[in-house]
Amino acid sequence: MSDNDVIVIGAGASGLMAAITAAGYGSKVTVLEHMDKPGKKILMTGNGKCNYSNTLQNIDCYRTVRPEFVKSVLNVFGQKQATEFFSSLSIVTKDKNGYLYPYSGQASIIVDALIKKCDSLKVNIIYNVHCHSIRRTSDGRFVLTCIKDSDKQIEYKSERVIVSTGGKTYEKSGSDGSGYKLLKKLGHKIIKPLPALTAIKCKDEYLKLWKGVRCDGEITLMCGNDIIVKDKGELQLTDYGISGIPVFQVSRYASRYIYNNNKVDALIDFVPFYSYKQLSEHIRNAEKYMDIYQVISGIVNRKLAQVVIKKCNISPDMHVSELSNRKISNIVETLKSMKMPVTGTGDYSQAQVCTGGVAVDEINEKTMESLICNNLYITGELMDVDGICGGYNLQWAWSTGYIAGKNAGYVEEI
Ligand SMILES: Cc1cc2nc3c(=O)[nH]c(=O)nc-3n(C[C@H](O)[C@H](O)[C@H](O)COP(=O)(O)OP(=O)(O)OC[C@H]3O[C@@H](n4cnc5c(N)ncnc54)[C@H](O)[C@@H]3O)c2cc1C
Repeated sequence: MSDNDVIVIGAGASGLMAAITAAGYGSKVTVLEHMDKPGKKILMTGNGKCNYSNTLQNIDCYRTVRPEFVKSVLNVFGQKQATEFFSSLSIVTKDKNGYLYPYSGQASIIVDALIKKCDSLKVNIIYNVHCHSIRRTSDGRFVLTCIKDSDKQIEYKSERVIVSTGGKTYEKSGSDGSGYKLLKKLGHKIIKPLPALTAIKCKDEYLKLWKGVRCDGEITLMCGNDIIVKDKGELQLTDYGISGIPVFQVSRYASRYIYNNNKVDALIDFVPFYSYKQLSEHIRNAEKYMDIYQVISGIVNRKLAQVVIKKCNISPDMHVSELSNRKISNIVETLKSMKMPVTGTGDYSQAQVCTGGVAVDEINEKTMESLICNNLYITGELMDVDGICGGYNLQWAWSTGYIAGKNAGYVEEI
């Protein structure tokens, strides 16, 4: 059993940042990682290019029950500090409409730079060590019981512990949800982690027809007559429902509402640039010789036009002049407000992050220290804060990792 000032569980984004910061403040730091390599999830980010932050930092880019918690964290270590940090590791940033990436376009440079920095600070990273329990001894220190190389039980002792185990999406990257169990055993409240930043599954008989279409549109999630959330952008229509960035952005609400046994509908506006009246006029003004399929295909993708025709139960070769006012209203309604029951979201293996996790009212917003168990710190996706697409989840990992590392790692000079 070796003694440490600080043990970090997890060599992911927030854990490596925490380790570097704690070591920089003079602590002897060990990182325990159950995979054979560090930062596996970082390598997957931004399609391998690592969208590490974003110049736009509104509080509502982070979904949480405590916006003041997020504000406090980002005030200490926000986008500017993250960019300066990576610049200090010789990484040049590319700014693509506010989305920040390493200029090289390779996530691997971020992982390499973090590891080299750890090495330079003598952070001891031990791989293939799965931590499965944390207990306190009578002297107030922590004992971490782990399994090394899949079979050997081993214990590590430390003054302070930073839990940076991530959420439970893309389990192959190492984040298997074990962090929730570790913290639950210590008395923390865990808000049920659910998939977020993922696709939405819908029930509709025509989904197969529109498979493969990409189009601009607006998605609104409804619970009965109440609007839950809406977002706009490029939608991807699939044979199970809808995907694309705007769908990712709203998916965490679908997950939570469905988990809470609410019925959720997706309303899609495929023609957001026209009002109902304008769209109706556009259709009515079509030349008399045109059939309705051609008119609708002049607005949206042919596959989608086919779905609209089927849903409105009209024959595609009917001329516009033959359509009743009711039929035209029906077409307009279908294009502007196509309603489909949401049956679920992509599962954990298809979601970029989790919504839910450790309740943030149990974490000190200034230090990331647990309010349930002192000298224990919590970082990153493990807590109940989820960012929208665009670099916000990694920013959250850097920010919370930095604060936890600073507060756990500070060694007072005597
Ligand atoms: C496909 C994909 C693309 C993404 N793209 C982006 C993007 O472009 N921008 C963005 O901001 N976010 C993106 N994200 C989200 C982002 O990667 C995560 O939110 C972020 O990595 C979370 O950091 P973390 O430190 O909390 O956890 P992680 O980075 O997941 O690290 C957790 C680490 O802990 C280890 N671990 C877990 N349990 C144990 C245990 N019991 N014992 C020992 N080790 C353990 C894991 O192996 C892992 O190495 C993406 C996610 C995915 C899946």
